[in-house]
Parts: sequence; C-alpha cells; structure tokens
Amino acid sequence: ESLRAETTTVAACGYCATGCGLRLHVRDGQAVGLTPETDYPVNLGMACPKGWEALEVLDADDRATHPLLRDSHGELKRVDWDTALTTFTERFKAIQSEHGNDSVAFLSTGQIPCEEMAFLGALAKFGMGMLHGDGNTRQCMATAVTAYKESFGFDAPPYTYDDFQQSDCLVFVGANPCIGHPIMWERVLRNPNSPEIIVLDPRRTETAMAATQHLQLRPKNDLAILYAITQHLIASDLIDHEFIAAHTTGYDDLAAHVAAFTPDAVGPAAGISADEIRRAAESIGQAKAASLWWTMGVNQSYEGTRTAQAMINIALITGNIGRPGTGANSITGQCNAMGSRLWSSTTNLFGHHKFESAEDRQRVADILGIDVDKIPTETGWSYDRIVEGIRNDEIKGLWVIATNPAHSWIDRGDFKELLDKLDFLVVQDMYASTATAQHADLVLPAAGWGEKEGTFINSERRYGLLKKVRKAPGEALADFQIFRAIAAYWGVEAMFADWTHPEAVFEKMQAASEGRPCDISGIKGYRQLDQCGGIQWPWSREDAAAHATPPQERRLFADGSFCHPDAKARLIVDNITPMPEPPDQDYPTLLMSGRGTVSQWHTQTRTSKSKVLRKLYPERPYVEIHPTDASLIGVHNGDMVSVRSRRGEVFVTAMVTPTVQQNQAFIPMHYDIINELTLRHFDPHSRQPSFKDCAVAIGKA
Ligand code: SF4
Repeated sequence: ESLRAETTTVAACGYCATGCGLRLHVRDGQAVGLTPETDYPVNLGMACPKGWEALEVLDADDRATHPLLRDSHGELKRVDWDTALTTFTERFKAIQSEHGNDSVAFLSTGQIPCEEMAFLGALAKFGMGMLHGDGNTRQCMATAVTAYKESFGFDAPPYTYDDFQQSDCLVFVGANPCIGHPIMWERVLRNPNSPEIIVLDPRRTETAMAATQHLQLRPKNDLAILYAITQHLIASDLIDHEFIAAHTTGYDDLAAHVAAFTPDAVGPAAGISADEIRRAAESIGQAKAASLWWTMGVNQSYEGTRTAQAMINIALITGNIGRPGTGANSITGQCNAMGSRLWSSTTNLFGHHKFESAEDRQRVADILGIDVDKIPTETGWSYDRIVEGIRNDEIKGLWVIATNPAHSWIDRGDFKELLDKLDFLVVQDMYASTATAQHADLVLPAAGWGEKEGTFINSERRYGLLKKVRKAPGEALADFQIFRAIAAYWGVEAMFADWTHPEAVFEKMQAASEGRPCDISGIKGYRQLDQCGGIQWPWSREDAAAHATPPQERRLFADGSFCHPDAKARLIVDNITPMPEPPDQDYPTLLMSGRGTVSQWHTQTRTSKSKVLRKLYPERPYVEIHPTDASLIGVHNGDMVSVRSRRGEVFVTAMVTPTVQQNQAFIPMHYDIINELTLRHFDPHSRQPSFKDCAVAIGKA
C-alpha cells in the first residue's frame, strides 16, 4: 500500500519553546510523516532530532489508551470513562467535603496548549473550588517571570529571533543553546557580524567551546561576576546616561551597590581573572548591539531572580533594549511555558490579571460570563508549598496533568511516598508508565501533540498553531475533552457551556488580553495564525487596523516605555547569598545538572519512545567527572561509580572529561536518578527550585 501523502499541513512543534514549524504529511486523516517547514518564520527550514521524531513517539506501546483505576489488590485496571469520571468526581468531592475545598490541588505543565491550560485553571479554580494549583513551569521559568515583572512591570521577554543574527555581542549565562535550543543557535552561527560570543558557564559546554570568551567561573559566582561587569561598565563610562535618565529608576542605588564588586575583588574568588571580566564588560559596552541570554543555569538557582535582573540591569544601563540585536532575553524551555504563565490561572489570574484585584476579578468574570464570587481572591500555593501541603496532610487529593514530578521534583527522595500518602491521586497523561502514573489511583488517558488542536506561545512570544493530524489511540481524549467531561460530571457544565472547542476559548483569551501588554485582540482567529506562521504578541485591534499583516519579527520596548505605571524600568540589586551546601571534606564535589543532549527531552517520557533518539544518547545514566578527580579515586572512563549526597546515593557510569572543572561533576536531568541527590532549596522570590548546586562524594562502586 502506498504511503504517499494526500495533503500536508503545518503545525508548531510540541517540545521546546523554539516553536519550529513542522510540515505534516497526511493520508486518510492520519499524519504519515513530517519534514521541517521551509516557509515558517521560526526555524530556518530546520528541525532538531526531537522534532523529526515527533510522530514516532505517538505510537509507543505504553500509551495510555483507556482509563485505569487501581483496584483493591493495588492493580491498575481498565475501566470505562463513565466509571473513571464518576470516581474522579466522587473521590475529590468527598475529600473536599471532609477536609475543605483547598485540600485538593493540581499540578500541571508547560506542554499542553493555552486553551487547555485556560480550561484547566478555570475548571479547577472557578468550577471545582480549588485554590491551589501550579505548573511545572515553576521548575523552569518562574524566575524569569518574577525578574521581568519586577524590572519591566510585566512578564515580557522583549526579543525576536532575528536578534540572534543582528547582535554584535551575545552574552549567554547558564545557557547551552548549542544543544538546548539548536535552531536558535543556528541563527547565531548565521550572524553576519562576526559577533563576540561571551559564555558564563562552569562547564565547557558545546556553546562555551564555540565562544570567543568563555568565563569558566566557579559555580554560583554568576551574580558577583555580573555585578563586576556592571561596575566596570560604570567605571569606564560605557553606559547610556540618556537612556538611564529617561527610562529607568534606581541607578544611584545600583551604582552604589556594585561599587565594591570590582573585577579585582570578584575575579579570584569566582575562579576567573579580573582581565577576563574587564574584557567581557568592554565587549558589551563597546558593542553596537549587545544582547544577553539566559536559561536554566540562571533560572534554577537560589538567587536566580536577582541574577536575571543583573543581566536586565546591564541591558538597561547600556541602552541595549528595544533595538535590533539587543535585549535581556530569557530563552524559554517548554513549548508552552509562556502559555502557562499567561493563561493557567495559577500564579496569575487568566490573562495575567491579579487574583488580589477586585477590578481584575470582575473583568475576568465578565469575559468568562461567570459569577465573580467563583474566582479566588488570592493566588494559590506555589509548587513547593503544595508538596509541603501533602507532607503536612493539608493536601489530600492531587490531580497531575502532563507532568512527571516523581522524576523531576527536586530532592524527590520521599516524593513517591508523598504520592502514596494522598487519599486520591489522578494522573492525566499520554503514557500510563511515567514514574508518577505508577503511583496513581486513577489514570486518565490523554491525547498528545498531533492528536489535538490549540496554540502554543514560543520564546519570542509567538502564538503558533497545534493541529490534529492523528487519531489518539484507544479511548484517549484531548485534555480539552477530558476537562469538558469533568465539568459535566462535576455539575458545572453550565459554567463552561460555550467552551465547546479550543478556538472558542482562544476568543475568550483574546477578549481578556485586550488593552494589556499581551494584547492579541487583533488576531483573526486560527486561520490567520495558520496563514502567518504564528503571530507574536502584542497584536491588538489597533495594530491589525494599521497593518494588513503582522510583521514577521517584532520586539518590545522600542519606544523605551516599560509596563510600570511611570513607564520606567527598575534597576534592582541585592546582596549575594552564600551557597547553602558548599562542598566540604565529606562531600567534596559540587554536582550540577542540566540538559545533556539535543536528542532527549525532560524526563524522557516521550523521547525515550523513539529508537532513533535513544541511539543518539547513552541509555545508562552517567556522571561527568574531571580526569584529575577520576585518577585520584582510581576511576577510568566507563567504570561504575557511586555518587552520594546527604539525601541519597546513585550508581552511574563515569564519563571522564575535562568539560567539568576539578571538584565539580555533572549528571543530565533526563535520567530518573538525579533528584535522589539534589538539595531542596529555592529562589525566595520565584520559588523556583535550585537544581544545580549540591555537594556530593564520588567513589568507585
Ligand atoms: Fe524545534 Fe525545539 Fe521542536 Fe527541536 S524540539 S524541532 S528545536 S521546537
């Protein structure tokens, strides 16, 4: 039988926040292949291996195909949807009636479309009466959100992908786009300006190897170095006085604060020379267009918010914002982390409104056509507080949607016991086999990317369209349909009567965004998103009236006007926080974690299902250790070693490599072991876990 496609269509990829366009080749309503789209504004006609393999993982044997309910023998057994939803409703309602509405919480994701996030947040909080719910975006983007909100007045990554190509000085802090965001990195390679590429990273990553300046700092010295760069910029008068006076507040405090952070004072303790700091500062200060980029090395840190803001400060005081090739730019991780920030009604009320504001609540209630009293008057707990709530018996029921905290949560040593301690755990996922699903009382089988519709927002604020090009296996349903069904079983279907399909919810999102920095009221439905290869926010009615089609590349703050009431950006500084668990005699090595490869994603829930992706990456967990450290403990490349922290011990293969410095080690986040070791601590402003610093001892196994 011929597999020749009858037609093709383009959809945004469902892994990372690059948001590449993938052309799906469809026959009999089913995608039979895909190729990267050559005419999509994001991806230069390319895709990384994960995108190429996006269809393969839909056919995995362990897809959740039917609802599963744990029976009296502890076995998950197939049930029909009626039994599943009746049980869901009865068990959660019983818990709420015994322990209060707030005793049931949800943990969601950055992996489902905006419309589904909006539905989940509204259903859980306004329909089911929950107060507490958070997303796994707390583990990746919360720091950037907090930093932008405080500095700019809104969670607003200012850049557009063209900035990678227009900059003549790019600074990457705690970021390895070469493997983490390879299509973005391709743009750096295509930059025609022979740019200076400055990398601050303790590891000699693939990106650091390509840098013109690699500041190979000791871990957790990034904030001090950024302050030293700021000090040298000020001392050398490489700053934009006019921009500072017109568009910022807090300059005097900033200058006074960083005065002591001279390169000579900071360099030796940070493990680099003062000259390296001065050279980096001068490259930034003398560039025509400097841009600063960060990812998880900054966000997943106990002082991440202030570190991100130190980068924002540098962009602001040098006038590197709002122009081509500039910006203080958080590179988002998940395909729809920004959708979660805007629409999930977790940290913000629907559309970045405030739960605490009566005016905001009324506006959202009017747009959604619900009673304003249904909207909580306070923001619910953050992820870590929900986990503590389980530990303290405050949370008795948990609904987990498209995330795998039993693998990914920091210091997850007792997390599985916590899941078992719950009175009722529901996991809604594409796969019934995740570490978290194994502890569920009820598994709801969900459709995945390619099996449903909606929108994702990528790193440059572009709404891209997700398409249904496959039928979900068995009785699996789109999360959207599951939420509709739950609304009916819960008895709140009237509240969601017009939430009939994703585009109907998109229209509500447009209404809620109107007049706000994230305004998308000018988008003419999914059809225009499809025609344009996605559209960046903001795109207001006024924008749409003034332009026939949205320009392909748009950045924020071109007029120097920020989102605080006085339109000025804030320059924010803070004291340096000591590392909570520095290496010592017993645990002499500092363990870092992070993305280890271009071919795997997060906890490998999906990517491990592809033979091709598995072949591109060692199946067994490994630890990178420095050759000198290895020889001191008599370990050779490929030997088994034990890695032990105060929380646990794991056994992994040694990868002896000078990519890490002496007394430092690295284990990729993709293996289900790393969080046996990590230390439970958080950025105090964003409540984001600090995954990348714990003391361990490594020995021959
Ligand atoms: Fe593009 Fe990211 Fe998808 Fe790879 S995973 S194809 S880089 S969107």
